Amino acid sequence: MRTPLVAANWKMNGSREFAEQFFAALDLEGLSCAVVICPPYPYLPLVAEKAGEGFSIGAQNLSDETSGAFTGEVSAAMLLDWGVRYAIVGHSERRSLYGESSELVARKFHAAQAAGLVPILCVGESLQEREEERTLEVIASQLQAVTEAAGESAGGDVWSRAVIAYEPVWAIGTGKTATPEQAQEVHRFIRERLGNAGAAVQILYGGSVKAGNAEALFAQADIDGALVGGASLDAEEFSKICRAAG
Ligand code: PEP
Repeated sequence: MRTPLVAANWKMNGSREFAEQFFAALDLEGLSCAVVICPPYPYLPLVAEKAGEGFSIGAQNLSDETSGAFTGEVSAAMLLDWGVRYAIVGHSERRSLYGESSELVARKFHAAQAAGLVPILCVGESLQEREEERTLEVIASQLQAVTEAAGESAGGDVWSRAVIAYEPVWAIGTGKTATPEQAQEVHRFIRERLGNAGAAVQILYGGSVKAGNAEALFAQADIDGALVGGASLDAEEFSKICRAAG
């Protein structure tokens, strides 16, 4: 039985005042789903102060290196110091705007795991790739980069401490959502690709999730929750999405 999980990706939004108001309005009372809030780095301490209240903290990114002369980077160990438990890796904005390759994403995934963080690995196809019917091929290669980087020693254990987020790039921040059936098809494909670990891995959907479409998405057999961008900046809307997850 997989616990539903809803993660908020604030991206580069917010302020101290926003965060204070957000937590004052957030209502997770009585929910059994897991909730993760991923603020920009400077607000991690502020979110950490609140984190006992029914949610965990996540980072939006991390370095693939452990320490040293890497100006502007933040290591997994530093995130752990602030009580962070999850780290998003391979978000499509990192892949497209900052040129992160699947190989770099895979190194970040393993750096997170090695330090004891749970990576939330984002995978997803562009509109062009969907139109060319290459969706499953693209997802398979994004997953394969992670297993290849793990090498033989990891055995089948790569996925057992990880979360996957299927985020079709054409649905992120566009108001266009994959239909529940489109999303379910890809989620089932991902679960099958994960092998024996697949049955226990939480696979989230991301792409314009809102209170109004969350329930239909979460009703699908292989959709275990959501990674939420825009709607996670509205505490009431985000609370409703969490409530739809359980
Ligand atoms: C995201 O950035 O991960 C995301 C899913 O954004 P949005 O919900 O705004 O589409």
